Amino acid sequence: MTTRKDEPAAPETLLAHVGGDPFTRHGAVNPPVYHASTVLFRSVQELLSPDVVQRRTWRYGRHGSPTSDAFEAAMAELEGGCRAQVFPSGLSACTTTLLAYAESGGHILVTDSAYAPTRNFARELLGRLGVTAEFYDPGIGAGIAALIRPETKLIFLESPGSLTFEVQDIPAIVAAARARGVATAIDNTWSGGVYLKPLALGIDVSIHAATKYICGHSDAMLGVAVCNEASWPAVKRAAMLSGASAGPDDVYLALRGLRTLPARLARQGATGLTLARWLAARPDVVRVLHPALPDDPGHALWRRDFSGTSGLFAFELPPTSPAALGAMLDSMRLFKMGFSWGGFESLILPLSFRRDRDVRPWTGQGPLLRISAGLEAPDDLIRDLDEAFSRLKGAS
Ligand SMILES: *Cc1c(COP(=O)(O)O)cnc(C)c1O
Repeated sequence: MTTRKDEPAAPETLLAHVGGDPFTRHGAVNPPVYHASTVLFRSVQELLSPDVVQRRTWRYGRHGSPTSDAFEAAMAELEGGCRAQVFPSGLSACTTTLLAYAESGGHILVTDSAYAPTRNFARELLGRLGVTAEFYDPGIGAGIAALIRPETKLIFLESPGSLTFEVQDIPAIVAAARARGVATAIDNTWSGGVYLKPLALGIDVSIHAATKYICGHSDAMLGVAVCNEASWPAVKRAAMLSGASAGPDDVYLALRGLRTLPARLARQGATGLTLARWLAARPDVVRVLHPALPDDPGHALWRRDFSGTSGLFAFELPPTSPAALGAMLDSMRLFKMGFSWGGFESLILPLSFRRDRDVRPWTGQGPLLRISAGLEAPDDLIRDLDEAFSRLKGAS
C-alpha cells in the first residue's frame, strides 16, 4: 500500500491492502501459498551469494516463505513494529520470547494473570534451566520497580488477563523496566492488535495467539511476535534456533483473517458489550468482568490505553452445583463450550484456574463463565442466555 508519510493508516484500510504487490504475481490479489521444504539454487555462485548466506532471501522451508513474509510484514505494519516473527502456535510465540531472554541465574517477572501454559513454561521449564520466574500482581503498576533485581531480564505482561480481565498500567511498568534496562513483552491477543499498540507504549515484544481473533474462523493454530529494533535480534535468533516453523496453509489463513479482522472485532466487541450490559443488569449475576464497563476496576486504564474492546469477557454466578450448571449450559442452542476464543461463533466456558495463581488469588465464590461473543445477532444470543438462566433457576 502507498501511504502518506504523515498519516498512519487506519487498521481497516491498511489490512485491506497489505500483502505485497499483486503485479509481481500475475495480478492475483492475494499471495500464493508455497508448500516447500527444498528451495533450489541455480549455481554455486547463487548458493554462496551474500543474500543466501545471510538469509536475506528464502533458502529453506523452515525459514518461512513469501506467504509468511507477507503476514509478518502486515503484522509489523499493523502494530508499528520493526519486524515480526510467525510461530506454529500462540504458546510457541510466548515461550520462544521467554527463551530469548532466559539465561541461567536470570530472573523473569510474569504477570499472575498470564495464560496458564505460559506460566507453567516459565516456572517449570525455565526453572530447570536455572531461571527464576516470579509472578507479580497485575495491579502492581509502578510498584513493579521494587521487584526488579540486578539479574532481571524480562517482564512478561498480559492485559487484560484472558480469564479475569485485569488491565495493567503498561506505561508505568515500561517506565520502571526501562529505568533498569529490563526488556518487556506482552501477550496482546485480547486486543487483536487493533485496539492496543503496545510498541507505541514502549513495550519491546507484542505477542498474539493468532489462533484466536487474527485467524478468526476456529480452523488454524498460529502465533506471531511483533518486535521493535531492540528485541528483534534476540527473538529472531531464538525462533531460528528452536526450529519454530508454521505450516503455509495456516499462515495463509491468518493473512486472510487480517483482511476482515477490524470488521469482525468491531462487531464482536459491540455484541460482547451488549451481552455484558444485559448480564450486569441481572440480579442472578454476581459481577461482570469487562474492562469497557464503567464500573470495572480496569476501566480507567483501558480507556486511556485501548481504542476499543474485543468480544471476550467473563461473569460470575452465585455458588451453583455442577448439576445446575450442566442444566444451564448443556443444552444451549447457539453458545458452545470450548477452550478457544475469537472465532466467528459464540462460546461460553466455565473456568477453573484457582491453582494457576500465586500472588493474586481469585476470591469469587461461584463459577466464573467466560464468553467469546461471535458474529450472531445479539438478540438471538440474549434469548439463548435468557433460556439458560431459566434452566439454571429451575435446577437450583
Ligand atoms: C490461546 C492463548 C494462547 C496460546 O495460543 P495457542 O495458539 O493456543 O497456542 C496464548 N495466550 C492467550 C491469552 C491465549 O488465549
